[in-house]
Amino acid sequence: MSTLQSIKEHLAETARYESILSLLHWDQQTYIPAKAHDYRAEQVTTLSGLIHRRSTDPKLGEWLDEAAEIGDDSIQVAAVIRHAKRDFDRATKLPAELVEELARCTSKAHQVWVESRAANDFAIFQPMLEQVVSLKQQQADAIGFDECRYDALLDEFEPDMRTSEVCPLLERLRSELVPLVNAIMDSGKTAPANILERTYPVDAQARFGKEAAAAIGFDFQRGRIDVTHHPFCTELGPHDCRILTRYDEKFFSSAFFGTLHEAGHGMYQQGLPADWYGTGPGKYVSLGVHESQSRLWENQVGRSRAFWQHFFSIANSYFPTALDGVSLDDWYWAVNDVRPSLIRVEADEATYNLHIIVRFEIEQELIDGSLAACDAPDAWNARYEKYLGITPDSDANGILQDVHWSEGLFGYFPTYSLGNLYSAQLFEKANEELGSLEEQFSAGEFTPLLKWLQDNVHGKGSCYSAKELVERATGTALSHDALMRHLADKLNPLYRID
Ligand code: ZN
Repeated sequence: MSTLQSIKEHLAETARYESILSLLHWDQQTYIPAKAHDYRAEQVTTLSGLIHRRSTDPKLGEWLDEAAEIGDDSIQVAAVIRHAKRDFDRATKLPAELVEELARCTSKAHQVWVESRAANDFAIFQPMLEQVVSLKQQQADAIGFDECRYDALLDEFEPDMRTSEVCPLLERLRSELVPLVNAIMDSGKTAPANILERTYPVDAQARFGKEAAAAIGFDFQRGRIDVTHHPFCTELGPHDCRILTRYDEKFFSSAFFGTLHEAGHGMYQQGLPADWYGTGPGKYVSLGVHESQSRLWENQVGRSRAFWQHFFSIANSYFPTALDGVSLDDWYWAVNDVRPSLIRVEADEATYNLHIIVRFEIEQELIDGSLAACDAPDAWNARYEKYLGITPDSDANGILQDVHWSEGLFGYFPTYSLGNLYSAQLFEKANEELGSLEEQFSAGEFTPLLKWLQDNVHGKGSCYSAKELVERATGTALSHDALMRHLADKLNPLYRID
């Protein structure tokens, strides 16, 4: 067997174990009986250990060294080797004690965060945050970096992206978003958002959401939707993508836009080359690109007037009572309601990135040591006042609202905003190349856009880095311009801003 064949077979077997682990996690979030959790935790630990041993197998390291000497014969093969080498290096650079310590610490930190949030008291969580930050600093040092520690953490979620590249992008975005949001507030106009808080029967929401997900192109022969507390999307194999959503009878947007969002993630998974499953060419590029696909279908498509020109009459047939007397114009404005709020996951399209920028700035300072954990709540509140014009009334509605830091996820937040930038830039280019997408959407036609995304993004897997992929697809380097154009084109007329 050739070296390359050995590597591919090793990765394919590891991918089978990883997909079984995903199945166990999916079941834990959906149908597992209450008393099955303890044994499930043992199953997960056993399988995780096995996957870790395979990922750090010295034999794999030898094959990868040999492959590096042979050279690559195609872009796919190069991606197989590059990704396997990157994963192997990351896995083997971390001392086993540090990995175990991080697992132990974040498991405890998560519990303490839950208590701290329930008690609305950051002081309870603070010592755990200090420990997690210290361990993440050690992790960054073990992995290594050229410019700054935060790079080593960011790289886990957004490979090949530097902090020094993300900072100016998000600073420029912030410098234009803050005046836009201020202008919206100063307009004195408010969207008729209470329409969305009428009664929307859960059963009808489920059927409508499924119809919309199928219409935009989610393949139900290769996936399904189930109910959970914390919506997400996961893949259990090359032809098995699971979307999780949740329903609120008194708030339409939560499930519907959540379903479009997760379907967007799902269609990306479904569009990855199945023949390369478990290897670089069959993997998503980065969390930012993954998020770009969900946000594109949720916002650029699902919150467009053209989308509702098609779907509003269908919505009326599902929710005749709630939508009685509601015009398309009012509905369109309601789903595009913009107002500063304290909670990130409830934020609108315009203010969302300001929530991310607050977190991005604070976590960089925690990791580089310039901000002590005890000072983080003040730093948080001051930035909310500065960027969003509001100050959190409590720790629970402020610094304690997100699970990420308790789980050791530093470097994750900026991928949400990168996703918004990628999505706006990709959508603008697709619109340019495909003619009027608006006309297509208003006729219920979404296939050309999905096909464009499959050709330019999904089908490429991880053969290019995220920035190369977006630059190849759109012809320009990543910037905040397309997102600002998208927001201004939509929001200026709604809020009568000149
Ligand atoms: Zn997402």
